Amino acid sequence: MNDSISSPPDRTRRGLLLVISSPSGAGKTSLAQRLTGEFSDLGLSVSCTTRAPRPGERDGREYVFLDQAEFEARRRRGDFLEWAEVHENLYGTPRGPVMERLGRGEDVLFDIDWQGAAQIRAAAAEDVVSVFILPPTMAALERRLHTRAQDSHEVIARRLARARGEIERWPDYDYVIVNDDFDAAYARLARLYLAERDRRLRNPWIGAFVKELFAQTP
Ligand code: 5GP
Repeated sequence: MNDSISSPPDRTRRGLLLVISSPSGAGKTSLAQRLTGEFSDLGLSVSCTTRAPRPGERDGREYVFLDQAEFEARRRRGDFLEWAEVHENLYGTPRGPVMERLGRGEDVLFDIDWQGAAQIRAAAAEDVVSVFILPPTMAALERRLHTRAQDSHEVIARRLARARGEIERWPDYDYVIVNDDFDAAYARLARLYLAERDRRLRNPWIGAFVKELFAQTP
């Protein structure tokens, strides 16, 4: 058989949902940004929130900033794939952009808390890969919250008090990475993401590919 006669095989993957959680200040957002910057077929899901923007945050980039009434209206319409109250604010993942990406066989990264992770897992267990980022020490976590210097002292104190409860959720996740060195933590994250993309279940084209292999001579 002449190789050039057969059309090139369509190797469209089944997109995966990469969920990353951690207490505030463990470095999850920087890890997520670097990963989506490196891999063009991984897009960050931009959440909606009722939290006020921090200095430097832009509407539609870090978050879509909504007032409570608008958030509730969207929630009632079923616009959110998941939503949760975190640190007295509401956060939700818009459904539309996620479904569009998945439809193209691309992956979506979610920087969301454990409550959101649980909801997404319940909705699409097989497609979810979840990663929990741990700080190396509680002192490092506190330091990072302070050096970020974007939140008031009360907000930082509240976030620290909540950190323990969030960290307790680590057993729910597929992978746990201790972020004691950013580059090393990033390398781990990138490696697991690449390996997960190659799972047999995420590559439904393989059956047809093998059929074609067998149709070839000899
Ligand atoms: P921050 O206000 O520091 O940006 O985020 C606070 C927490 O809310 C973080 O743990 C972050 O991952 C989480 N978060 C951000 N967006 C969402 C979302 O859409 N859903 C859920 N469940 N959590 C979110």
